[in-house]
Amino acid sequence: MTQQRKAVALISGGLDSLLAAKVMLEQGVHVEGINFFTGFCVEGHTHAIRKKDKDKPKRNNALWSAEQLGIKLHIIDIVEEYKDVLLNPKHGYGANMNPCLDCKVFMVGKAKEWAEENGFDFIITGEVVGQRPMSQRKDTMPVISRESGADDRLLRPLCARNLPPTLPEKEGWVNRDELYDFSGRNRKPQMALAEKFGFDDYAKPAGGCCFLTDENYSAKLVDLWDARGSREYEMDDIMLLKVGRHIRPAPHYKLIVGREDGENKFLQGYKNSYISLKTVDVPGPLTLLDGVATDLDIQYAAKIAARFSQGKNAESVTIEARRINGDTSTLEVKPMSPAEIQPEWYV
Ligand code: SF4
Repeated sequence: MTQQRKAVALISGGLDSLLAAKVMLEQGVHVEGINFFTGFCVEGHTHAIRKKDKDKPKRNNALWSAEQLGIKLHIIDIVEEYKDVLLNPKHGYGANMNPCLDCKVFMVGKAKEWAEENGFDFIITGEVVGQRPMSQRKDTMPVISRESGADDRLLRPLCARNLPPTLPEKEGWVNRDELYDFSGRNRKPQMALAEKFGFDDYAKPAGGCCFLTDENYSAKLVDLWDARGSREYEMDDIMLLKVGRHIRPAPHYKLIVGREDGENKFLQGYKNSYISLKTVDVPGPLTLLDGVATDLDIQYAAKIAARFSQGKNAESVTIEARRINGDTSTLEVKPMSPAEIQPEWYV
């Protein structure tokens, strides 16, 4: 009896990784998935904060993919190790702060380590030649295989026939003739394959698999580093960049203003780590102050926060300012007029 080979699949939650794993399962390979959590992932709880699409059931698409495939999924936290990938990418950044090529090298390298530790034979990804400008080009795909150390144990089932045969193909663990030759940005072949496999409710994210491909998010990250004078971050920092309006009226502090109920509730969870402002006499957002704010700064920030409350046209709005130690004070402020809020304050 031939030995059943084992592959570990990088599962992002998108269609391509779902299909790649399915193609392997169809060939009788034992597949388990890995999903890496960097802190910047679009997946996870953060997309459940806002009311938008509130009627749609929330789901983690990586878990959903694994469920569809009937495979185990290992979710691995790489938040700390990922800092070096983001801060010092050997191959640079894409259009925004996305270090896609270094990121892929890192993730495939981690998957290779995991495969060795767990007795797996090879690694699969949903990459397609020519699909993404940085990490999925004909000239960069070999870089990922080589620099990750996976070499010819890295198989891309969706475009394998456009690439040199890998070890699983050469050894006959998988049948190359039943792999695919997709290329380019056209998604129709993937959609047709999804239909063939009976997948119809797969995720269709507009951007990449993480916030680093997002222009606004990247601008907020760079602003944070500039303001602190150091390219460092903690989990709370990068979570908060996903939420609220970010307004920086002075280099040493910024406001994070909740845009709706869901965000206000989320920001509440940070009241013991940041100064917070809340309207008392009218409905309004919860606002956090990030930075070192003096009493004068808090007074000024309260005027801005009042602008986003239902008292924005009132002569005066009452704001409760809460310090990190729990001390509170009440401020009576005139909401700032739209003309006073400078466009360049919006991060
Ligand atoms: S989009 Fe984000 S997670 Fe995906 S490869 Fe690029 S940097 Fe990595």
